[in-house]
Amino acid sequence: MERERLEFDVVFVGAGPAGLAGAIRLKQLAAERGREIEVCVIDKAPALGAHSLSGAVVDPRALAELLPDYRERGCPIEEEGLRDAVFYLTAAKALRLPWVPPFLHNEGAFVGSLSKLCAWLGAIAEEAGVNVFPGFAGVEALFDDAGGRVLGVRTGDKGVDKQGRRKGNFEPGVDLLAKVTVFAEGPRGSLLREAAKRLGLFDGRMPQVFETAVKEVIELPEASPFLTAPEAVIHTFGFPLGLHTKGGGFLYRMAERRVALGLVVGLDYADPMLEPYREFLRFKRHPLVAGLIAGGRVLQQGAKTLPVGGWYSMPRLCADGALVIGDSACTLNARRLKGVHTAMKSGMLAAETIAEALAAGDTGASALEGYRRRLEESWLGEELRQARNFSQALSRPPASRVVHLGAQMLSRGRGLVDPMPLHEDCSTLRPGVFREPAPVADLDGTLYLDKLTGVYLSGTRHEEDQPCHLHIPHPELCTTRCWQEYRSPCTRFCPGQVYEIETAEGGRPRLKLNPSNCLHCKTCEIKDPLRNILWNCPEGGGGPNWTIL
Ligand code: SF4
Repeated sequence: MERERLEFDVVFVGAGPAGLAGAIRLKQLAAERGREIEVCVIDKAPALGAHSLSGAVVDPRALAELLPDYRERGCPIEEEGLRDAVFYLTAAKALRLPWVPPFLHNEGAFVGSLSKLCAWLGAIAEEAGVNVFPGFAGVEALFDDAGGRVLGVRTGDKGVDKQGRRKGNFEPGVDLLAKVTVFAEGPRGSLLREAAKRLGLFDGRMPQVFETAVKEVIELPEASPFLTAPEAVIHTFGFPLGLHTKGGGFLYRMAERRVALGLVVGLDYADPMLEPYREFLRFKRHPLVAGLIAGGRVLQQGAKTLPVGGWYSMPRLCADGALVIGDSACTLNARRLKGVHTAMKSGMLAAETIAEALAAGDTGASALEGYRRRLEESWLGEELRQARNFSQALSRPPASRVVHLGAQMLSRGRGLVDPMPLHEDCSTLRPGVFREPAPVADLDGTLYLDKLTGVYLSGTRHEEDQPCHLHIPHPELCTTRCWQEYRSPCTRFCPGQVYEIETAEGGRPRLKLNPSNCLHCKTCEIKDPLRNILWNCPEGGGGPNWTIL
């Protein structure tokens, strides 16, 4: 098939904070040095920011370095001058901690919406001359004949039906060729997954580990106590997950009488019956939370995974013609619950390395290796080193967790064991342990939503007549071993109700897929205990359409 080929100096795959900050920084450097650098950013989302979701309490450090006049340029800030509170929740009570751990302090930070922030950064990138193409999914990394050098990325074909046949509106994908391709797909990128196998980028590293967050933006009534509370940022732990499952809740006050509310669940949980979405509803029903959001109305809902493995999970960051940045490179600081500023900084450091490499006419792995050095020597490296054993400590039983965290605080992250081991999330479910799920009080369709209403409020849309983007290599395992040992946990860990078990003839279970509900969170590929789900990019422009998350 004849495909259009477009050539650039640099292609970023992903228009999140990392990719956009990197593209803007490259254009700044090109202007400073008086040379032209052709930069392209592609994203699978229908519009800029539509697939970007984060807490988000943003540390503006990287933003201020990239755009010192970010306020004057209209950066979308929801709330600032933040004060924090941390609560331990029991089923009926909320106990406020007398002090907030130093790494959770948010003075100088602001509450934002990552969707809005990315749309704003994207406009600045376009103004600077970056070619920004939303609606284009990168589906395949292109390699040279020897297979060791990345030459660019192929975008997905559009207009292909469920059986893989071309429809009347067929458009072949485009080959975007670049001297440097930057993987900025966010957590568990499908393009990086395949490229990394070929390049060995994860070889010898600790496993990637994740948490899943379900988040909503809720409009509050004028009389809501949270609108005038001294603390705009609340974090919780304990109920509903208990102390043996990693995770916690958050409420962040936003502009226009809104609150961002979410629950984060560590995906190394052991209970196959646990359902993050159900726990999210239970969190909302806790008396403290229910009181703060009473009378509210959910405006938007979404879900995403967070890469929390940190320093020891980071892949090899460069290869011939390629770099990895942001959540794809595991730059999130789990200790500070922040990934936006770290993702942006990694993009900026990558841009500085690429500008140097282009000027020298050498974009091989050794020329791009400077990115790793820059990262290690920057404040980003310092932040990540201090958090290098944090997620591992949280995975320990409660008593030893406290000891490990205390030791880490006293030793700049080293702690009692360095490095502490990490275990792949797909390996932690206990087979054969089935319990009745905890009850959830009535859903009202306004403030307490079922999954499908949540999917509706995420704006998720996919072309229905396209190949299924969820690949299950061994479907027979779903209704045999996976059902017998784990009762099909995909039906619970997926926040979009994509997986359902039906009863077929003879009373046998049968898996039914609803891929058009998919929120692109990747939880299924990460948590599936049989590693039998591969998430691939659906047709570009499909998926959630978040605007305020
Ligand atoms: Fe997330 Fe997978 Fe469900 Fe899509 S199918 S919403 S990626 S868990």
